[in-house]
Amino acid sequence: MTVRTRIAPSPTGDPHVGTAYIALFNQCFARAQGGQFVLRIEDTDQQRSTPESEKAILDSLRWLGLDWQEGPDVGGAHGPYRQSERGDLYKKHCDELVEKGHAFHCYRTAEELEQLREQLREAGRTALKPSDLALPDAEVEKRKAAGEPYVVRMNVPESGTCVVEDLLRGAIEIDWGQVDAQILLKSDGMPTYHLANVVDDHLMEITHVLRGEEWINSAPKHKLLYEYFGWEMPVLCHLPLLRNPDKTKLSKRKNPTSILYYQRAGFMPEAVLNYLGRMGWSMPDEREKFSLEEMLEHFDIHRVSLGGPVFDVEKLSWLNGLWIRELEDEQLADRLQAWLLNRDNLLKVLPHAKGRMETFGDFAPLVSFLAAGQLPLTGDSFSDNKLETDEQKKLLQFALWRLEALRTWERDDIFQAMKALATAMDIKLKDFNAPLFVAISGTTASFSVMDAMVLLGPDLSRARLRHAIEVLGGAGKKVLKRWEKEYAAL
Ligand code: GLU
Repeated sequence: MTVRTRIAPSPTGDPHVGTAYIALFNQCFARAQGGQFVLRIEDTDQQRSTPESEKAILDSLRWLGLDWQEGPDVGGAHGPYRQSERGDLYKKHCDELVEKGHAFHCYRTAEELEQLREQLREAGRTALKPSDLALPDAEVEKRKAAGEPYVVRMNVPESGTCVVEDLLRGAIEIDWGQVDAQILLKSDGMPTYHLANVVDDHLMEITHVLRGEEWINSAPKHKLLYEYFGWEMPVLCHLPLLRNPDKTKLSKRKNPTSILYYQRAGFMPEAVLNYLGRMGWSMPDEREKFSLEEMLEHFDIHRVSLGGPVFDVEKLSWLNGLWIRELEDEQLADRLQAWLLNRDNLLKVLPHAKGRMETFGDFAPLVSFLAAGQLPLTGDSFSDNKLETDEQKKLLQFALWRLEALRTWERDDIFQAMKALATAMDIKLKDFNAPLFVAISGTTASFSVMDAMVLLGPDLSRARLRHAIEVLGGAGKKVLKRWEKEYAAL
């Protein structure tokens, strides 16, 4: 049997380090056994999926040094590799389940579902079962004849225990009582993750599914679907989730999570991949620095430990230092040039720096903030600004939300977005810009903060705003909720 693994990233945002971590382990697992690693794109969320995000994910994984034998960019015998191009396959398989009586058309309206959930809560139950959802035959016929929208849901047992085997955890028991009559096909005809995932893994001949532990609770549904189809189920292996240093689930609020951030902030791809290889895994001799080839050579999935691995930027920086020191000077010079210190970038920066230079010597201090990753800010960095600390914090969060929603990263778009926000918040542009200045450049005595953001790029700019918010004390859940409302009302 040829071992075949896969990842199925959703192209709905920045390329996440968690995606690269899962990809690395899938690649190592397959390749260490002479098998194949497949990349498919889970773009069934038509609203949020973008081609830009897909490209950024593929580019980032390649930048790290990962590669796959089949995928949307390299082709292969099991394509297409984008779920949005596989609609007919899902429909056909879903129809088959309905015919066999394993799935049913559900005409329940949103209001009815809300009521049903309310009744469940009152009864102390959690999952909506087929029996809860059932409508009298005549009512179904009526809604069908009226052309009302429906979804396709799978039948699930009312009670009992489902046992799923996990390569690392052994037998996991999950109570059927917690499992919903899962939607398989949405009213727009698009499959949900569960249906697409099972159909694709089967048709793509995947033998081992290595994915994040957040999917454990979905495993009973998948197991049941394999049974309904009469297919052999791949081996499941749930990898531990990456965590922030405070042990909470890795989040961009506390840690940059976009691979593009690490690229722009001057990390070596070899070091980032090495660090991801240390997430829950270690070399037999416990050495900290190793290459992808070395990891492959010694790879054994049973060396994964399940305690939540902590993704700590300080540790990663330390490891990156080891990698830098092992480069020849010639190599390091090439790397630095390829990264940022090249003529093209000089030409982009000079128009902004020139007016502030008396000697060439003024240049490096003026632009050093463009090369740093995170700036050494403290609460004091913001104390000369006119607005109160809390106001500044809120403004930075609102600015961050605006900037996260931008589709392009052009100076005019950034400027218009910030100006509109300042007006909506009724803050003079000068006072509005001050905290942005500090967050982005470390000081208010720098060139235009809009230009600085363009030069930094979206990932570094947003990461700096997030860092500034944290430095100012961060915002708890309650405060965020309040701000979200205020922001929405602007
Ligand atoms: N789109 C899902 C994710 O990236 C895929 C999960 C899976 O591997 O099955 O988390």
